[in-house]
Amino acid sequence: MTPSVRASVQDLGAGGFDLLVIGGGITGAGIAREAALRGLSTALVDAGDFGEGTSSRSSRLIHGGLRYLEQGRIRLVREALRERRILLRLAPHLVRPLPFLFPVFQGDRVPRWKLSLGLALYDILAAGGNVRRHRTLGKRALLEAEPLIRELGLTGGAMYFDAQCDDARLVVATVRAATVAGAHAANYMRVTGLIPTVAGVRGAYIKDRFSGEEGEVRARLVVNATGPWADELRRLEDPLAQPLLRPTKGIHVVVPRSRVGNRHGVIFTSPVDGRVMFILPWGEWTYIGTTDTDTTEAPDALTVQEADVVYLLRSANALFPGARLDPSDVVASWAGLRPLLAADPNAPASAVSREHRIVTGSRGVFTIVGGKLTTWRAMAAEMTDQLVTALGHHRKASKKPSETVPLPGGETGVFDGFRAGGLELGLSEATVDHLLSHFGAESPAIYKLCRERPSLMERLHPEHPAIGAEVIFAAAREFAMTVDDVLARRLHLTTETRDHGAAAVARVSSLLGAPRRDASRSPDAPSSPTPSSA
Ligand SMILES: Cc1cc2nc3c(=O)[nH]c(=O)nc-3n(C[C@H](O)[C@H](O)[C@H](O)COP(=O)(O)OP(=O)(O)OC[C@H]3O[C@@H](n4cnc5c(N)ncnc54)[C@H](O)[C@@H]3O)c2cc1C
Repeated sequence: MTPSVRASVQDLGAGGFDLLVIGGGITGAGIAREAALRGLSTALVDAGDFGEGTSSRSSRLIHGGLRYLEQGRIRLVREALRERRILLRLAPHLVRPLPFLFPVFQGDRVPRWKLSLGLALYDILAAGGNVRRHRTLGKRALLEAEPLIRELGLTGGAMYFDAQCDDARLVVATVRAATVAGAHAANYMRVTGLIPTVAGVRGAYIKDRFSGEEGEVRARLVVNATGPWADELRRLEDPLAQPLLRPTKGIHVVVPRSRVGNRHGVIFTSPVDGRVMFILPWGEWTYIGTTDTDTTEAPDALTVQEADVVYLLRSANALFPGARLDPSDVVASWAGLRPLLAADPNAPASAVSREHRIVTGSRGVFTIVGGKLTTWRAMAAEMTDQLVTALGHHRKASKKPSETVPLPGGETGVFDGFRAGGLELGLSEATVDHLLSHFGAESPAIYKLCRERPSLMERLHPEHPAIGAEVIFAAAREFAMTVDDVLARRLHLTTETRDHGAAAVARVSSLLGAPRRDASRSPDAPSSPTPSSA
């Protein structure tokens, strides 16, 4: 099969695979890539669009996690910082360094001396893989860096560096990388049951959500990487399986950056409840997050509650008093469910473990839960070590190929030549910047489409730099099947325009091709990050 072409029910039914991965969020996509790179014949399926679950609803940070340091989770922080370094190299267009400010106010839970100590340790744990070393700042220096931050009670703070990432595109790039390495992948392909044999589970029954076609994928090993759905899937293997998860819900809101005026990422403790929060720049937008609350809502039916929006806005207003944000400023919001490990039922939600766990079910299905967007590659490597052993290959590589093989578009981080190429073609600077941050070293493929059909150079939406050629690329190379796939997860028009991309729907639809199926019409369609005026 050609890489990046969606596998059909027949493709998946044709060959017995070494491995079937269920769930195409970052965890499943990472495992499919790792396994394929190590020579396992691999199939990957997702019930919805790739990344449509938790993996496109994160805070978009590739970070060590300062607050995990405060909780003493040194191993997690060290591993995450190592992965940050690797991802900055594998996908420099999608994972970018971001300077953060940590302001400290009188009476804060974390005083300045403790912050400096923590950041020094953070630098040490990055072990030479640091973006840049932190700097402590006095009150005046902090206000120079971030002039609109609250002055009252401010004692100073620090600047440190982490990384920001396009989470939805990271998933798609990882799935594409898996197919380049030989995996078969299909989105909108739901697993409806597992194939039992006397020797254990040997594959799964699948249903194509567009054609309604049903079939089966035979595989020697099956991995359940369905994130917040993991317990549901485990019950297909064993109806009495004990739950592994204690999911918590997190929401983010998007407001125009001009309303807040932040120049950096800002990490702070909410004056409402003392929780750690972020105010993050994203082009001309600022997103604020996140909440972390226990919930009984199903992963398919998450809602953004008004109380959560008010909490985020109140916290941001306390830090940027001039912003005076109210719910009418909110352009979009999204809610996600963290697939966290159940541990101590009495622990507060924010203290539940971010570390991952791999368990083998009674019929041999491997389930992987927990973890972070940041640590997906390390999780995939660990999972694949176990799979290789289970297959009896005994080919554990000490140096994993996944550490060095770039994701599509990440072949180089030097974009000057690509920038010049786009400008020569007559594209605006805004569009060229947008293309480089979405496609990196693959930008010339978009330019080629533009040269072949100059009408594809037109913007899709008056408020957004995305152009028509990206829709053609998304459909041909990035598994985009529906208008929503394009607007929400390939181009982000749903969260980066005031009408949530409505002005682009007709054109995107016609570029995708008239009879292009719209799975969002199907009754069991999963929800997307919610554009909302909350
Ligand atoms: C609010 C929030 C903020 C976060 N911020 C960060 C951050 O900034 N940095 C960070 O490192 N981590 C962050 N995380 C954590 C990170 O996003 C998650 O750990 C990660 O995305 C989980 O990915 P996953 O692949 O395990 O799950 P998902 O992305 O949920 O993928 C599971 C997939 O399984 C599929 N599936 C379910 N059932 C079936 C079935 N029957 N058949 C086929 N497929 C099925 C679903 O459609 C889904 O796509 C955040 C999480 C949340 C909720």
